[in-house]
Amino acid sequence: MSLARDLLLAGAQSRFLRETAPKLPFVRRTVARFLPGEEIPDAIAAAKALEAQNMRVVFTRLGENITQAAEADAVAAHYLALFDAMDELQRRPEISVKLTQLGLDLSVAQCMENLSRLIERAGCESIVWIDMESSEYVDVTLELFKRCKRKYPNVGLCLQAYLYRTAKDIEELAPLEPAIRLVKGAYKEPPALAFPKKADVDENFFHLAGRLFRTPKATVVVATHDTALIRRIEKLSAELGRDQRSFCFTMLYGIQRREQLRLAEQGWDSRVLIAYGSYWFPWFMRRLAERPANVWFLVKNLL
Ligand SMILES: Cc1cc2nc3c(=O)[nH]c(=O)nc-3n(C[C@H](O)[C@H](O)[C@H](O)COP(=O)(O)OP(=O)(O)OC[C@H]3O[C@@H](n4cnc5c(N)ncnc54)[C@H](O)[C@@H]3O)c2cc1C
Repeated sequence: MSLARDLLLAGAQSRFLRETAPKLPFVRRTVARFLPGEEIPDAIAAAKALEAQNMRVVFTRLGENITQAAEADAVAAHYLALFDAMDELQRRPEISVKLTQLGLDLSVAQCMENLSRLIERAGCESIVWIDMESSEYVDVTLELFKRCKRKYPNVGLCLQAYLYRTAKDIEELAPLEPAIRLVKGAYKEPPALAFPKKADVDENFFHLAGRLFRTPKATVVVATHDTALIRRIEKLSAELGRDQRSFCFTMLYGIQRREQLRLAEQGWDSRVLIAYGSYWFPWFMRRLAERPANVWFLVKNLL
């Protein structure tokens, strides 16, 4: 299982695959399960359908590690256009962005400027989430998050339960009254930095969720599709006397739809992250790596 995950994550970095696979019809058919489309109207249409089921959405436009300054500015401009399109929706959506998409590899100043434009445009009712990328970006991402948080209330950060350091990062962030989205982690990390065993990642996730629930004034997003973990967290929140809507669960579009709906129907704040855009290949490979059984779905579409 771990070998399959490693191979799929290595494939996510392959330039050859990135250029050829998206042209293959069976790959496109498979990705359609996780991606409502490549353009803003596709994402908005998917959000409307989810709104009708009592779920709010978070949008992310796929893409990472851009190489030209103009590309980073174009990404920021795209998100500004998305904010205009969001006016069609009844519940204020949020966005989630990768700092490498906003120019982090080229210039921290430019990245910060692009991020600030988005946070200002979002307005105080809508959090701009910063995705967490692979481990070499964690320090700089934390640094930029802290800088933004001192200036703006409506910025949130994703933290990964597979990293040993995350417990300490949460302690350091706690005084800032942070908005934290907790995930397991999607990248290939060495055992020196991340728990190699899934059971340990799951246990750390539960422990960190508890720590976040006990952090005064923290906004907490539990982002997992793991139904056993979700049940434990529901129970924990009740034990801690938390209101059902004092935090939210968020899952990815197309994954565990029944669970998304169950949570919404039972009164939890259930949200869905909608990824869209044309640069979907590495993202798609990470989704396959999370559940190598998805590869059979790909094979079925080939046949
Ligand atoms: C809202 C959101 C935001 C995220 N943001 C980030 C981020 O910024 N940085 C980052 O590193 N990671 C991010 N992730 C991905 C995350 O790190 C995990 O890789 C991903 O959520 C899978 O882990 P899991 O918690 O669902 O648990 P797992 O134990 O992997 O999965 C639990 C169960 O969920 C189902 N499932 C999980 N993944 C899939 C899939 N791809 N296809 C079909 N079924 C599946 C399966 O039934 C599986 O048994 C995000 C995830 C979510 C939901």
